Amino acid sequence: MINLPPGVPLARPSLGSSGQTGTWRVLRPVIHYNKCTKCRLCFFYCVENTIDLELNMFPKIDYQYCKGCGVCAQVCPTAAIEMMREVK
Ligand code: SF4
Ligand code: SF4
Repeated sequence: MINLPPGVPLARPSLGSSGQTGTWRVLRPVIHYNKCTKCRLCFFYCVENTIDLELNMFPKIDYQYCKGCGVCAQVCPTAAIEMMREVK
């Protein structure tokens, strides 16, 4: 996980604000890392800010808060993110 510099206007999901929005999910974004170019578009566009960057700069999704909207899959230029039916 990376730390953003102070002043970067990104909100973080937090318990209690909208709750654990991951329970809303019908479709689950799955990252195919063999297609990922580390462009970070998914990180910037995620509407819940549930995508972090690991130290190797690959994105990682926090499924506790990801609500499955599919924005990340839409903006990914290499189709590395696949929306798959959630199994609960
Ligand atoms: S589907 Fe993608 S954009 Fe939507 S909340 Fe989950 S990680 Fe973020
Ligand atoms: S948008 Fe796609 S290619 Fe870019 S970092 Fe995210 S998963 Fe990787």
